[in-house]
Amino acid sequence: VFVCFEGGEGAGKSTQSRLLREWLEAEGYTVLLTFEPGDTEVGRKVRQIVLDPATGDLAHRTEALLYAADKAEHVETVVRPALDRREVVVTDRYVDSALAYQGAGRDLAFDDVVWVNRWATADLRPHLTVVLDLEPEHGLGRFDERDRIEGESVEFHQRVRAKFLEMAGADPDHYLVLDARAPVAEIADAVRARVAPLLER
Ligand code: C5P
Repeated sequence: VFVCFEGGEGAGKSTQSRLLREWLEAEGYTVLLTFEPGDTEVGRKVRQIVLDPATGDLAHRTEALLYAADKAEHVETVVRPALDRREVVVTDRYVDSALAYQGAGRDLAFDDVVWVNRWATADLRPHLTVVLDLEPEHGLGRFDERDRIEGESVEFHQRVRAKFLEMAGADPDHYLVLDARAPVAEIADAVRARVAPLLER
């Protein structure tokens, strides 16, 4: 079973992915908790390039390909092997982040970003994507130091948010959208309720 957490900055993805792991482990499942970008050797270098404010401007195609390279490495060396071992994989960000940030945030053709990411991941799709929805003004306020992307305009982050919601709205069987401002425990309960039936398969 493959579950992703998605959403804008400061929405609580890492907290919720950790809580989901704790619950799954308590239920007896072996869990691989991971994240993008950066949870491989190559990925750490890619993350450094794309997120360090010192990088300055990157051509948007370059940026999209770097994130896609991180994903290719992550899927082939981390995610796929864990799924093959029948582990539950929980990831903090996946393809939808690329579709939202590069596909909607940047001025790239959305379908091209879809295609690049399908290729990079060999079209591995999650069983469930949890979108933790938050107004950008809320999430961005939580940071003092911003990475390259967090420093983008509020309009950029609004396009990102709208794209997450659009993708979720178009495919309710594979998405769960939750208000990120709800209490942490309430969000965790809602996530468990959606994940539980997936585990029976
Ligand atoms: O979730 P985390 O804070 O680790 O994400 C790192 C940064 O990478 C965030 O600022 C996020 O907006 C950005 N990002 C991006 N495009 C992606 C994935 C992440 O701009 N495809």
